[in-house]
Order: sequence, then C-alpha cells, then structure tokens
Amino acid sequence: MIKLLLLALLFFLGYSFFQLLFPARRQRPKDRNFSTHHPQGETMVEDPQCGKYLPVSEAISARVGGQQHYFCSHKCRKEYTHKS
Ligand SMILES: [Zn+2]
Repeated sequence: MIKLLLLALLFFLGYSFFQLLFPARRQRPKDRNFSTHHPQGETMVEDPQCGKYLPVSEAISARVGGQQHYFCSHKCRKEYTHKS
C-alpha cells in the first residue's frame, strides 16, 4: 500500500516539476500575419486604364513601355497595353 502512495507522490511531484519546466504557453493571436490581405499602410497603386486605386498585392503588374504599371484586372491590362 505504501508503495502505491509513494508512486502517486512521485507521479504528483513529477507532474509539478514538468509544469514548472514547461508552463502552459499562452495562446497568442497571430496579429502580425503578413499573408493577410490588407495590412495597414500597404502601397496603393493606380490603374492607369480605369483610374481605380487598389492595394499593390491585389494589382496585376505589367511592364508597358519600360514602365511598371498596375491594373485592377486583366481586362484593364489588356486594354491599356493595346492602347499604347
Ligand atoms: Zn481597371
């Protein structure tokens, strides 16, 4: 019987020791996730075709006449590249 008690005590001590070494990590919300769509302060670009402003991550970039342009859609890009 004493052996069982000792075992329980040992288990308890081991458990406490384990908790001391590895305190439960606080779950932190990942608020700095760079893969999210609209981080504040993202560069806005203007679509030269329709004049719409959109974040650079959503824009379709194209080189037109050696200059980098950003478009809101493939349609705009196509229309712009055909125009110039
Ligand atoms: Zn457009």
